[in-house]
Amino acid sequence: MREMKKRLEDLKGQGMLRTLKTIAGPQGPRVMLDGHDVLLLCSNNYLGLAGHSALIEASCAATRRFGVGSGASRLVSGTMELHDQLEQRIAAFKKTEAALVFNSGYAANTGILQGLVDPGDVIFSDQLNHASIIDGCRLSGARTVVYPHRDCGALESLLQAESSRRRGRFLIVTDGVFSMDGDLAPLVELVELKERFDALLMVDDAHGTGVLGASGRGTAELLGCLDRVDLHMGTLGKALGCFGAYLAADRVVIDTLINRSRSFIFSTSLPPGDLGAALAAFDLVDGPEGAQRRQALEANRGLFADRLQQGGVDLCGSVTQIVPVLTGEPVPTMEAARRLLDAGVFVQGIRPPTVPAGRCRLRATLMADHRPEELAAAAELVLETLSGLPR
Ligand code: PMP
Repeated sequence: MREMKKRLEDLKGQGMLRTLKTIAGPQGPRVMLDGHDVLLLCSNNYLGLAGHSALIEASCAATRRFGVGSGASRLVSGTMELHDQLEQRIAAFKKTEAALVFNSGYAANTGILQGLVDPGDVIFSDQLNHASIIDGCRLSGARTVVYPHRDCGALESLLQAESSRRRGRFLIVTDGVFSMDGDLAPLVELVELKERFDALLMVDDAHGTGVLGASGRGTAELLGCLDRVDLHMGTLGKALGCFGAYLAADRVVIDTLINRSRSFIFSTSLPPGDLGAALAAFDLVDGPEGAQRRQALEANRGLFADRLQQGGVDLCGSVTQIVPVLTGEPVPTMEAARRLLDAGVFVQGIRPPTVPAGRCRLRATLMADHRPEELAAAAELVLETLSGLPR
């Protein structure tokens, strides 16, 4: 215990201690924090669906009809009609043969990579992929070759080098929208490489699903290669406003995971209320309201990011609703977050290991139902705060 205490004190001294902030009341563009009404600029509830009445009604209706818990894991007795319906809905949405629901994005990435890849295979993973992908690579037991962020030239050389001693399969894995930088994977180039080198391509579109593309099908739709990605992973807890995750892919991939994926097999399945809400979320995302919300989100992103860019802020190449404000070291980053919160803007400081050392940032995330005038004021406040920080 003494060592633990000392370690926490050390972390605090380095500006690296993590603590929880509790929100009172529901999620929305503004929330109550420590008795104050603040602008929420660090939620992945991008389309504002987490508190949408249609999802709340669907969740309550499913709970009333099917109960609160599923009672077992999927392979035992925890597969309910709603699981099947949601998987069919997701497969139709991503235009694949089949889909499989997982209990979270973390469980999906670890379970997909462990379930599909063997120790004799090679995984090629973007340097800035999400932690759950990194952990999945480790769990698979395969050799993982990390390629420089979005660098297809470097990836090509690595694929070439590995080809000469190839024994097993190749899998390329990338975030669609990078979670801490808000930039996009070069999916068209990755598709060409995976076809040339006979590899599978897995895209984690946790932050693109629901948001990007004309009908919200994500990064691959935006970039015009939806039908050329092998493994579409996405989450239900961000733009879709619910909880859980999925893989959409060929039937043989899904059947393989049902038989081999440990996070899928050994965990109680998602409850009816969440499944009912997710079905309603897909209906919304796929309909006119989804299109309207995507438009509002894009307008908000433009307004906020343009103002920061005019103010000389390094936005790390972001082109999406994830707008990082590079601040460098942990102490000034957390001080900036504290000052902004005092001024009524809740944005989290992000530190290693979530981002590389020296690349700490305020990670601002926009929502469709933020009001433009609030965002304009928040952008000014961010600029003022950055200019007032000790150097
Ligand atoms: N992948 C990416 C790119 C993410 O950003 C996240 C969540 N932050 C996850 C996977 C994990 O998803 P979940 O929160 O549903 O576990």
